[in-house]
Amino acid sequence: MVIVMASRKREDIDYVVKKVEALGYKAHLIEGVERTVIAAVGDERGKSRLQSLEALEHVERVFPILKSYKLAGRESHTEDTVVDAGPCSIGGKQFVVMAGPCSVESREQILETAHAVKEAGATILRGGAYKPRTSPYSFQGLKEEGLKFLKEASEATGLPFITEVMAPEQVPLVSQYADILQIGARNMQNYGLLMAAGKSNRPVFLKRGMMSTINEWLMSAEYVMAEGNASVIMCERGIRTFETETRNTLDISAVPVIKKLSHLPIVIDPSHGTGVWTYVAPMAKAAVVAGADGLMIEVHPRPAEAFSDGAQSLKPERFAELMKEIRELVELSGRTLKADTGAAIGAGTK
Ligand code: PEP
Ligand code: MN
Repeated sequence: MVIVMASRKREDIDYVVKKVEALGYKAHLIEGVERTVIAAVGDERGKSRLQSLEALEHVERVFPILKSYKLAGRESHTEDTVVDAGPCSIGGKQFVVMAGPCSVESREQILETAHAVKEAGATILRGGAYKPRTSPYSFQGLKEEGLKFLKEASEATGLPFITEVMAPEQVPLVSQYADILQIGARNMQNYGLLMAAGKSNRPVFLKRGMMSTINEWLMSAEYVMAEGNASVIMCERGIRTFETETRNTLDISAVPVIKKLSHLPIVIDPSHGTGVWTYVAPMAKAAVVAGADGLMIEVHPRPAEAFSDGAQSLKPERFAELMKEIRELVELSGRTLKADTGAAIGAGTK
């Protein structure tokens, strides 16, 4: 930790140095022209009380030298992580497209959509069985029945599937069915849920909270990883700003930022990011060019009849057109978009 002194008086500096040493750290003084800085060196685990020294009158600021996300950060893990998700891997040379409806509405609906997205070249099926709705009176999802329909659609098409888990107690059940656990934007800081997902043996797809900074999002990934689950995929799905033309403001700059700060793969969700189906394709293409490792796109056979998020859902034929354009961009960027790469590429992290 670095302690920046507000005072240059010898007695004030000595006082803080004694405090630092009393907490079990070595104090190194750096006396600059305008400021005196104390570098506190030592193992912080179990005694992270240095931050409180900021309460002292003669201390201006206390901040860490290293990032707090030790496992999710690039500082201690320089190689890109490739997450192994059954028949496909996420990260590295592999580009993934997760596609499907916002909600699983019926057996027929998910089977029809799964076949359509598979035909168009999607690599992973998506669909919500537990839905986090703003209103308790809106459709809440088919729950376990929805998981069964997803499993059937996944087996019929050979596509692994991702679905949202909303509460810690749902993790064991959802893990029995799903290949990847999605943690939604509204639950990004549900620490109990993050820890439960961290104890599961499934990769965790962590959506960015709609009012969360990148630092907070990476700290949430750290919660999952600290429980022993290294397979985390970050997902940018738009944040709240003053703009009202789009449902959210899709922060595509999160791609290079996450790539710089972390070794984890990052996927862009232009459906929730914009909320408008006509904006989905341009933002999806922008995400590929920005270096994202994949896309999550909502597709519905009849968007006008969807139980949720119809306005941002693509019809299967539009999704198929988009896939053609995406494939070209993916290949131009030296990556591949294949349905089943198998374990050959998947250098799993678990
Ligand atoms: C979803 O994927 O359907 C969803 C609810 O997403 P988010 O958590 O990003 O709103
Ligand atoms: Mn949705």
